[in-house]
Amino acid sequence: MRVLLLGGGGREHALALRLADDPSVEALFAAPGNPGIAAVAELRAVDPVDPVAVAGLAVEVGADLVVIGPEAPLVAGVADAVRAKGIAVFGPSAEAARLEGSKTFAKEVMTAAGVPTARAYTCSDEASTAAALDRFDPPYVVKNDGLAAGKGVVVTDDRAAAEAHARECGRVVIEEYLAGPEVSLFVVTDGETAVPLLPAQDFKRVGDGDSGPNTGGMGAYAPLPWAPADLVDEVMRDVVHPTLAELRHRGTPFSGLLYVGLAITADGPRVIEFNARFGDPETQVVLALLETPLGGLLHAAATGSLADHPPLRWRTGAAVTVVVAAEGYPAGPRTGDVITGGEQPGVIHAGTARRAADGALLSAGGRVLCGTATGPDLAAARDAAYQVVRGVTLSGSHYRRDIAAAAVDGRISLPV
Ligand code: AMP
Repeated sequence: MRVLLLGGGGREHALALRLADDPSVEALFAAPGNPGIAAVAELRAVDPVDPVAVAGLAVEVGADLVVIGPEAPLVAGVADAVRAKGIAVFGPSAEAARLEGSKTFAKEVMTAAGVPTARAYTCSDEASTAAALDRFDPPYVVKNDGLAAGKGVVVTDDRAAAEAHARECGRVVIEEYLAGPEVSLFVVTDGETAVPLLPAQDFKRVGDGDSGPNTGGMGAYAPLPWAPADLVDEVMRDVVHPTLAELRHRGTPFSGLLYVGLAITADGPRVIEFNARFGDPETQVVLALLETPLGGLLHAAATGSLADHPPLRWRTGAAVTVVVAAEGYPAGPRTGDVITGGEQPGVIHAGTARRAADGALLSAGGRVLCGTATGPDLAAARDAAYQVVRGVTLSGSHYRRDIAAAAVDGRISLPV
């Protein structure tokens, strides 16, 4: 099978590695890719959010499958344009991707499907914002209604800061604060059949001990030693199947990757958000543990034949990834610095570029790369991931020192 992968971040590098080692994948192309992906795929300089250009590229390279990494192409209708050429796509239609593209739409679907989530109000002016904030106790949760690359949410005790974020965004969703540890569950689906991957946890705040502003994600680990044994079954029954059924019922079935972001509250799992694609950096750890060939799995989802796909096989042990971020991330990352150690095994490239003059590896984004490793248990995987990170130098860079630490030490408890 010939595969075209869209995107150029850490998630796509992780996807590319697993697609490249699937024996059924005979050729792998990526647009635009990154220097890490370039080691396993042929890169094409095509804008991944341009539906016409991507559909043209898919035809040109003779793709049997297009895998869409980021959310922006989905919302822009790239999956629809490629499907219109008769080519299988892993990724939902623009209509179904509104599950991620609009927080209000996601809430509507959840309400209609009876999915447990935070009570919420959509507001687009000061008066309705104030009225909604009055209905909740702090901490306040204020979400940009549209796509914001993981940075549209403010969780704060400071009412003035909550109001200021609402003003900046225009249209926001204000919702109940959900207390409890967070879980990311990825579900591969063809719209009807749904196959859960291993639950993972990511770290949204920039600093140790969950301090500082929200980011796109600073690290992740899987599996979750503290998660309730029936968690995945419960989420499939109460969240995933009702949501997929509701979208089928609306005539916009969802196929691709349904990302369920949950808080495990005292009242059980509650949905924090849906995304319409793999999460970054959880993908790095989940795919590091997946033994089943990835191309075959995604092709089955893209062609409506997931029911015939064999059960997934997983490596034993655990995986950890630690993000190395550029100086100034997330507020204003500095780019263009030289990276050393970027070619070692376990380095996943996210925001990197090659200098044309001499091929030196440079930082080119806020989240620059991730050190990813597996191990026989979480403690070993964590040590190995930090070993990878310590082998990288990048002036001014920073990373969290506490990724997976609380889970290794048994310090995560479920609320009662
Ligand atoms: P989102 O972009 O919706 O994933 O939100 C980013 C982060 O904000 C989440 O990973 C949570 O840590 C936090 N968050 C969002 N919504 C809530 C909520 N209702 N209660 C508590 N934390 C939340």
